[in-house]
Amino acid sequence: MPSASLRKIDCHVHLLGDGSSGSGCWLRLKSIVHRLMAQVIVREAGLPPSALREGLDALLVTRLAEQVRDSSLDAVVLLAQDLPHRDDGTPLPDQGTFYVPNSYLLAVCARHPDRFIPGVSIHPARPDAMAELERCLQAGARVLKLLPNCLNVDYSAPRHRPFWEKMAESNMILLSHTGGEHSLPVLCHRFADPRLLRFPLECGVTVIAAHCAGRSGLWDADHTAALLAMFDQWPRLFGDNSALCSPLRCRTLPQILPEPVRHRIIHGSDFPIAVSGFGPWRMGLIDRATWRRSSREPNVLERDVFLKRAIGFDDSHFTRMAQLLDNA
Ligand SMILES: [Zn+2]
Repeated sequence: MPSASLRKIDCHVHLLGDGSSGSGCWLRLKSIVHRLMAQVIVREAGLPPSALREGLDALLVTRLAEQVRDSSLDAVVLLAQDLPHRDDGTPLPDQGTFYVPNSYLLAVCARHPDRFIPGVSIHPARPDAMAELERCLQAGARVLKLLPNCLNVDYSAPRHRPFWEKMAESNMILLSHTGGEHSLPVLCHRFADPRLLRFPLECGVTVIAAHCAGRSGLWDADHTAALLAMFDQWPRLFGDNSALCSPLRCRTLPQILPEPVRHRIIHGSDFPIAVSGFGPWRMGLIDRATWRRSSREPNVLERDVFLKRAIGFDDSHFTRMAQLLDNA
């Protein structure tokens, strides 16, 4: 086992479930689009299509732990997913596509402490946000994940100051979605802008901007330049390269590979989002043989590691999350 700060960590892995084990998780599978997405998720996780009828909770955790064990990674940050909330703290469960409660996430991570690092999710407008933050900190959580445009989180709201200050004083890292989103319904498009992260940064929070604020669809705005312009001012700001081995998000890769930006990039896959060499090949970042070789790797976490190396991300990008967890 390598020393703590040399651990190779995937900082962006989603836990999902169907509630079959009493987890409290749910996945919304009403529309044909959601059912198709669920089939992709199950396939990428290396599970049979029947997993959606046969107890996804337990099957996914077992399979994911195997995939981490069989990869060149040492651990992954496993993520909960809170509900969308109104600004006044009213939960909006009908607006969510999936839900993974913190209690379940913490229990899963406690069963696999070497492989899973808990990334809890707390909407700061929740009436119990401070108490839940305290509870998760007591349970050892060091990462908090939010998806502001889909969960309706207004980072710039002054009333959230105590929440960010508590995170900062507790060395808890904010992993925030940035940029557009097309896999999930968006409640507030304005919240895709990474410049809204200024307020948590001003409060002292270490922030990882997921997807480096790139474009997720064909016509959405590209916020990557705005994010990169913030790096000089905010030494505690980083970006992850999660989901960038996908056919549309791969367009962000050329912007984050040059020096010195690449020293702020952290490895992430966005499991169970599909990982393919097609996009990096189309961008001219890998050759066709490397794309073909990547598609023969059945373990999606390792396929993403393989592609990130081939694209040009070095060893330090795999260990940067461990250093943040050590130093924060
Ligand atoms: Zn994600």
